Amino acid sequence: MSTGLEISRVREWLPQLNNPLLIAGPCSLESEEQALATARMLARDHRVFVFRGGVWKPRTRPGSFEGMGSVALRWLQTVREETGLPVGTEVANATHTEEALKHGIDVLWIGARSTASPFVVQEIADVVRGTDAVVMVKNPVNPDLQLWMGAIERVYRAGIRHIVAIHRGFTPFGETKYRNYPNWQTVIELRRLMPEVPVICDPSHIAGKREYLYEIAQKAFDMGLEGLMIESHVDPSCALSDKEQQLTPADLGLLLDRLVIRHQSAANPLFDNQLEVLRNRIDALDKELLEVLSSRMDIVREIGRYKRENNVTALQINRWAQLMEDRTQLGKKLNLAEAFTKVLFQMIHEDSVRIQTEIMDHTNGER
Ligand code: PEP
Ligand code: MN
Repeated sequence: MSTGLEISRVREWLPQLNNPLLIAGPCSLESEEQALATARMLARDHRVFVFRGGVWKPRTRPGSFEGMGSVALRWLQTVREETGLPVGTEVANATHTEEALKHGIDVLWIGARSTASPFVVQEIADVVRGTDAVVMVKNPVNPDLQLWMGAIERVYRAGIRHIVAIHRGFTPFGETKYRNYPNWQTVIELRRLMPEVPVICDPSHIAGKREYLYEIAQKAFDMGLEGLMIESHVDPSCALSDKEQQLTPADLGLLLDRLVIRHQSAANPLFDNQLEVLRNRIDALDKELLEVLSSRMDIVREIGRYKRENNVTALQINRWAQLMEDRTQLGKKLNLAEAFTKVLFQMIHEDSVRIQTEIMDHTNGER
C-alpha cells in the first residue's frame, strides 16, 4: 500500500549512512564547552550520523531549565565545523524555525508537545516551505495517530521531502515503568498507512531512565525501525535537563555494541524462499480461521432463533463464564497466551451476543 507521498529515503540526504540512522547528543545545549566536548567524543564513534542538542526546551512546568536560546545555534555551527557531523535541534514556533534555518541547522524536529497542536505545526511548516530542510516529526504526547499523520502531512504539503517520524512514547496515566509508554501498535499503523515515511525511535524519552534504554532500543530494531535518536551528555550527572536518561558517549558506544541491528530482508537468498513457504501456510490457516468463525456465527444465529422462540435471553452469564474458563484452559494447553485467548473470546462472544440481540429485536419489531 502507498499513499503516494514522495518522501526521500534517509540515504538520499545522508548518502554516507550505512544504516541505521543514529542521532545523538545532549538533551540541552548548556555551554559551548559542553556541546563541543560531547560532540567530539560522539564523532569518534562512526555509528553516530547527526549531532542533536536542544536550544529551546519545552518544559512541562515553568521554572526548570528552558534552554540557552539562539546563542546555542552558534555552538551547533561550531560542532558541525569541527566534527563534520550534521546538526539538529527542536523548533517549536515560527521564530525558532526562522532562527534555526538562518543558522543553517541541518535537521529540525517538531517535539511531542508541538505535534499535538496543528496550529504550531502549520506555523513551522509555513516557515520551512520552499527550503530543503530535513524535518523530523515526533509523535504527539497523546496516542492519536491522526494527529501524528496530520503533522507529517502539513510538513509534506509545505514541500518538504526529507521527513522522518520519531516514536518517543506517549504520556502515561499514573505511575508506570517508563516515562512515556511506547505504543508499537501505533507505530505499525503509521508504517502501514504511510510506508514511505522512515520511522526512528527515541528510547531516551520513552525510558526516562538509563537502565531501560537498551531494551527499548532493541525492541525498536526488532520492529524494523530505521534508527535511534538518543540523548548523550559528556557528564550526565550535571546535566541541566533529563539527567537520569542521558548516557556518556562511552556508554552509548557500549549500548550500541550490544544491540542487534535487524534488516528488512536477509542477505541469504534461501531466506526469501523459506519465508514465502511459511507465509503461504499462514495465509491458508488464516483462511481456515475465518471459515471456522463464519460457521460458528451460523450456529450462533440458529441458537438466537431458538432462544427467541422459547423467550430466553441472548446473554446467559453462567454459560459465558464457563465458556471463558474452558477456552482459556484449552488455549493454555495449546501454548497460547492466556491474555490472548481471553481477548479473542471476549470479541467472539461480544459479536455472538450482538447477533442474537439483533435476532430478538427483529421479533420485537414484528409484534
Ligand atoms: C527532546 O528531544 O529533547 C524533547 C524535549 O523531546 P520530546 O518532544 O519527545 O519530549
Ligand atoms: Mn530531553
